[in-house]
Amino acid sequence: MFNIVVFGAPGSGKGTQSAKLIERYGIHHISTGEVLRSHIAEGTQLGKTAKEYIDKGQLIPDELMISILADIIENHPEAANGVIFDGFPRTIPQAEALNELLEKRGAQLDAVVGLEVADNELIDRMIKRGQQTGRADDNPQTISNRLKVYHSQTQPLRDYYMKRGKYHAIAGSGSVDDIFDAITAELDDLHLASRRQGL
Ligand code: ATP
Repeated sequence: MFNIVVFGAPGSGKGTQSAKLIERYGIHHISTGEVLRSHIAEGTQLGKTAKEYIDKGQLIPDELMISILADIIENHPEAANGVIFDGFPRTIPQAEALNELLEKRGAQLDAVVGLEVADNELIDRMIKRGQQTGRADDNPQTISNRLKVYHSQTQPLRDYYMKRGKYHAIAGSGSVDDIFDAITAELDDLHLASRRQGL
């Protein structure tokens, strides 16, 4: 099993790189943002609750988010080869919950890929994405809140994973392919090692 977290600020390219990484490593992609957006699109009760937080640029409360993630993991047998967690964890309690969920499956977190991008570039990217895709939370006010929330609640995870020897810093500006190459240069050996352990 190969389990990795793709970590970074809003707009840092987590979704783009995750889509390429699942192809390379044959593992399952779980994007908590996408899961929440599909609930919103389907008009479920969870979607209605999530929308209130997302529209303000706030995080969904930990307890709710953790139960959503536990549910997804349990209901995805294709996650057996491993998972790319994209957008989760975003707080220390979420990180601890992830450790427990993986342990229960006899697995562990192999690596955290941290996409590092300067705030001004993040803002430019999200404004452009909002214009191109109409994504509701890519508007100036919500973007500014999301970045504040990122710096206060999510960025401390960088240290958390650094201390545990899991964090791989990747410069997240430049071409998508160059960034992908930088990530795989860090992960390929770890992936091989995890496969050997599984044999
Ligand atoms: P990207 O630019 O890679 O799409 P993002 O951070 O802009 O990343 P998503 O990861 O799609 O966007 O998340 C969108 C919103 O969904 C967040 O602003 C937050 O409100 C909510 N959300 C997603 N994941 C979590 C989580 N793990 N905990 C709490 N809230 C979450």
